[in-house]
Amino acid sequence: MRWSQTFIPTMKEIPADAEVPSHQLMLRAGLIRQLMAGAYTYLPLGLRVLHKAEAIVREEMDAAGGIEILMPALQPIDLFERTGRKTAFGNVLINFPVRRGDRTLHLALGPTHEEVVTDLVAKHISSYRQLPLTLYQIQTKFRNEERPRFGVLRTSEFLMKDAYSFHTSVESLNDTYQKMYRAYCRIFARCGLDYLPVEAESGPIGGDASHEFMIPAANGEDSVVFCKQTNYAANLERAETGRRTPPLTAPANPAALQKVHTPDVGSIDAVCKLLKCQPQQMLKTLIYLADGQPVAVLIRGDHEANENKIRRALGATSVELADPGTIFKVTGAPVGFAGPVGIKCKVVADHDVPLVKDAITGANEADYHLTGVNIGRDYQLDATHDLRNAAAGDPSPRGEGTLELVKGIEVGHVFKLGTKYAVALDATFDDEKEFRQPIIMGCYGIGVNRIVAGLAETRHDDNGLIWPLAVAPYSVILCPLAVTDDETMRVTNLIYQQLQSAGVDVLLDDRDQRAGVKFKDADLIGIPLRVVIGGKGLKEGVIETKWRWESEARKLPVASAVPAIMELLSARRTEEAATVPT
Ligand code: ATP
Ligand code: MG
Repeated sequence: MRWSQTFIPTMKEIPADAEVPSHQLMLRAGLIRQLMAGAYTYLPLGLRVLHKAEAIVREEMDAAGGIEILMPALQPIDLFERTGRKTAFGNVLINFPVRRGDRTLHLALGPTHEEVVTDLVAKHISSYRQLPLTLYQIQTKFRNEERPRFGVLRTSEFLMKDAYSFHTSVESLNDTYQKMYRAYCRIFARCGLDYLPVEAESGPIGGDASHEFMIPAANGEDSVVFCKQTNYAANLERAETGRRTPPLTAPANPAALQKVHTPDVGSIDAVCKLLKCQPQQMLKTLIYLADGQPVAVLIRGDHEANENKIRRALGATSVELADPGTIFKVTGAPVGFAGPVGIKCKVVADHDVPLVKDAITGANEADYHLTGVNIGRDYQLDATHDLRNAAAGDPSPRGEGTLELVKGIEVGHVFKLGTKYAVALDATFDDEKEFRQPIIMGCYGIGVNRIVAGLAETRHDDNGLIWPLAVAPYSVILCPLAVTDDETMRVTNLIYQQLQSAGVDVLLDDRDQRAGVKFKDADLIGIPLRVVIGGKGLKEGVIETKWRWESEARKLPVASAVPAIMELLSARRTEEAATVPT
């Protein structure tokens, strides 16, 4: 492709509203343009990267036994009503009535396709002989995200690879899950992404039933807990800690219990300011309703409660923060003054709670707190639990090492669904004994745009993007120094044609621009191999090649330039392939 024949609107200035490097660079390098918040046009360079990532995803899905189909984005709302996801998605689900003749249809734009694919399978699969089956598509999804941001990292319309597997047994599901997990590792490695598979919430199947694939990145929206020593990695909602039950008896030399006046001071921060203490000296007392019953949950003041852990520890199906009326009933005080001393409901505590000596808590009385609160004397516990989010420095649940917190971008998700959709949409099979059973399902998503944005976010320098060869919009950029010089253009065109015939993706910067401008743009758009032709070098019979990540160029004789470039590309491809797990 000749630069003058395509559309690469590069920009010198950093766009004002682009906060993160990937967004800035994708705009500046002419990959994307915004139509409105959360909606972007892909320009030729961006589209080429997107297509290359898509091709890798497709190859690996096919190799893992997936069968490609294409389902409609437009879907009848009643499918979502039957699975309860109209309510669950809420405002995120884009749905609307349309008039057709004298009828009104209520339609939705698919945020994912569990409903549509399960409905398809329900109608066409009836016997164990037809299973297992894995269907996938690469298709546009629609989500009315509350806060679309960071360029194409979070948009209201995006390209997803979504796969769905159907099984007669959990063993068969586990087998496909492993294949998909491995395919995901290969996809992200082939795309040149640094990725981390992390344990995620397990949902209905329980156990090791869900993994997210994260790209570690400072601007990531997800928090990942990671232990270098043991390789334990989990998302923040899911991460366990290796903490043990502390002693539940009174500490030595406790301070006296005192009631202090704290008028209108109900938050941890405000109490700390007034009493000149640190949040870790305080105990938060959160009143929840667990399946409708009030429970007080004690958490150290600087920690974050984790509702899933609380729900599991209580063996409840649902937990929610209690209303002010319930809080008044169990504490005798308005919101903000609850504490364990004398509270009138069940109390559960996190492992770190008994370790706080001379704690500060609410006094269960409006405008009062207690200081010098100690376990064994002022309140009692039979046991403690892991009820909070993991924090940096916690021991790893694998027995050795400590946990650290890193930020990540979720680029993919694999999930054992179980029978939720099959039951709701009547997808069943007859087993060997002709008993009808619900089909067991798995689902597997990849954000194709996030592969591109994730690469831009993590592979760049001050001068611009640095694409891996596998997904680069072009492998080689040819920069003739003077397009008005006949000899320069004769050699350039010859190399251009020979590379093209050899199947190399090559971009020829044929603009009549100064070399400095061309080099800046070549760096900005991040083409892996730059080839400079002309000037003194050409008179001496050489051209110059330079990898985007190198600072020194190397000289190649004009006569053998094309085979030498092919050699360089092939060696690089081998290097990139070496990172892909088998
Ligand atoms: P997130 O937590 O980031 O909102 P999600 O958990 O809702 O994502 P899934 O439903 O698991 O996402 O979708 C599968 C994949 O689709 C995600 O791993 C992500 O890569 C991609 N994806 C999800 N939402 C968006 C979006 N708004 N824009 C771009 N990609 C997205
Ligand atoms: Mg997810």
